[in-house]
Amino acid sequence: MVTSLYRRFRPQTFGEMVRQEHVVKVLKNQIEQNAVGHAYLFCGPRGTGKTTVARIFARAVNCEHPQDGSPCGKCAACRALSEGSLDILEIDAASNNGVNEMRDLREKVQYPPVSGKYKVYIVDEVHMLTDSAFNALLKTLEEPPAHAIFILATTEPHKIPATILSRCMRLDFKLIPEEDLEAHLKRILDGMGKPYEEEAVSAIARAGAGSDRDMLSIAEMCIAYEDKLTYKGVSEVLGAADFSETLSLAEALIKGDMPAALEGTERILSAGKSVGVLLKDLMTQLNRLAIAKTCRTAEKLLSLPKEQFAALKKAADGADGRALLRASEVLAKAETDMRFVSSPRVCLETAILRISLPEDDLSTDALVVRLNALEQQLKEGVVTAAPAAPVAPAPAPNPVPKRALVEEPAPFDDMPFPDEEPVFEEAYFADEPAPKRPRPAPEPKKAAPRVSAEPQAAPPAGAKAETPQVSKEPTAAPPAGAEVAFGKFVRTLRKTSRNGVLFTMCADLAPVFEGNTLVLYTESGTIFRSLSRDEHRAVMKDVFEKVGITDFDVRLKGAEAPKKQNIADELKRDFPDYPIEIK
Ligand SMILES: [Zn+2]
Repeated sequence: MVTSLYRRFRPQTFGEMVRQEHVVKVLKNQIEQNAVGHAYLFCGPRGTGKTTVARIFARAVNCEHPQDGSPCGKCAACRALSEGSLDILEIDAASNNGVNEMRDLREKVQYPPVSGKYKVYIVDEVHMLTDSAFNALLKTLEEPPAHAIFILATTEPHKIPATILSRCMRLDFKLIPEEDLEAHLKRILDGMGKPYEEEAVSAIARAGAGSDRDMLSIAEMCIAYEDKLTYKGVSEVLGAADFSETLSLAEALIKGDMPAALEGTERILSAGKSVGVLLKDLMTQLNRLAIAKTCRTAEKLLSLPKEQFAALKKAADGADGRALLRASEVLAKAETDMRFVSSPRVCLETAILRISLPEDDLSTDALVVRLNALEQQLKEGVVTAAPAAPVAPAPAPNPVPKRALVEEPAPFDDMPFPDEEPVFEEAYFADEPAPKRPRPAPEPKKAAPRVSAEPQAAPPAGAKAETPQVSKEPTAAPPAGAEVAFGKFVRTLRKTSRNGVLFTMCADLAPVFEGNTLVLYTESGTIFRSLSRDEHRAVMKDVFEKVGITDFDVRLKGAEAPKKQNIADELKRDFPDYPIEIK
């Protein structure tokens, strides 16, 4: 019979424990000072090491020569206790409600230990005991013999009667961070000589969700599944979770739901998936969506599990084909760019921002995406077109704006986010004030089509003045202090926070001192709203305090402040010839 990984690699000393050092330290000190208690309550989520610590402790208190608080494993007591001793008794309260066990325990606890100094009772899932069993246990705890130690373990401490709680020393076990799970799994795999991909290990650690036992049982399935642990194999074993996560990210992208897209990205990346793999996964999903949308034999072609195909088909039917294509193109470009930048993550996030912000992008595709979204809103009755009458008398020579824009080459290079990381890095990571904002100002080109479309009234520049570019405002030449202070902030943020999305959004801010307040301007309503959220504010506040700035504010620049009106407004601005009305 094969023993499970968890049992095979169960720590035998405190030193081998994965985390829980706060608990281990207390217990080791007590052993070294010969001051162990009679009753302990180990609380904490499943698989965090409660029983393991209890067993090590039980042997350590009996060991003749404990090593650094842990059992030596060699002395007579250690050897006797390692092979099913009568002095360490484990009771699983979950499998029997415990009345008889507890009565039995009350009698037997009076007999002295067979081989060591202490008899140790480990009661697992103690919250499952019935009231009468608790009462029986309480009587024992009230007058424990000198040689008895009780370790009660539970995942639900709130179910333990106060009378029991008050007699125990309570120690709380915590969920194990992914890095530690990962390191533990790597040690085990290395020990077994099992080859693995880093990403596969990350994915398994993530699926363990803080529990060493859960992680190891997943690892076991994966090990049985393939000779070398690969990300692909692990994904297959883990099944749908990964698929649906990347699918909802792809959906958020093509719907232009930037907060959802950024959050999804953050979640997936912080769970350990590498930028390159996420990019590939996303492109795969977009490609599948395109096939599901356009191809009659899609189901056969894609050969996905039934539920996955159903979810995919549903998403594809609701997706705008142009948006799909545009997202794929932007990601494909990001994949190329990624080879030349020092931070692939920023590159991916820039691409994601770009895809979800078609309103900042005047390429043909982006405009068509916006038109389609408007059509959808018209269908749903969110906005209404004005009666057809005003359209008819419109002067014929006016070129249709759409046509004019179609002739413009799709200017991906004109998009408002810096393409290359290094530009940004230099600007913010040098200790000197940045020479100028890295943000390109594609203004003349942007305005160009409108000039021809609209020979009269509003001067083309006038239209732009309502959505001022950062570079036009006084911020264009801010006091050096603001750039330097902000540069420090950005560097510290990058060092201290794993939140890459926040970092990317901050990269878009223009800093300026107004009195003592460092005001950060953004032109994007979406970024503004996202940065106004409490969790982002809190991180920014912390980091600003670290660099000595106590007062800061994020503000929305330009006319789009109350941006609630939806995309109809923006389309009105860009297509002044079409009568569009908000209901
Ligand atoms: Zn020993």
